[in-house]
Amino acid sequence: MSRIADKCDLRSGELQPGTTTLEVWLGEQLIVVRDVPAGVCQQCGEAYISADVSERLDHFLAEHHRHRPERYLAVPQYAAAQTLESA
Ligand SMILES: [Zn+2]
Repeated sequence: MSRIADKCDLRSGELQPGTTTLEVWLGEQLIVVRDVPAGVCQQCGEAYISADVSERLDHFLAEHHRHRPERYLAVPQYAAAQTLESA
């Protein structure tokens, strides 16, 4: 099992054990995985996932359709043009 780095790459902040939410696009489908164990930078909040967790997630994502999601989210989508008009 691989270890999580203990310093943040960006600002050399301390990493503390925590969790993060991952958003992964698989083609047209957005998959959200919550409460993923990660080392979380105490300075900038960047989350670092160990190679072990990352590999297990990859395996899961490859066959995620076999599992019933906890719930479905409705996600609003905008075109950049809309967001720039309203500013
Ligand atoms: Zn950081």
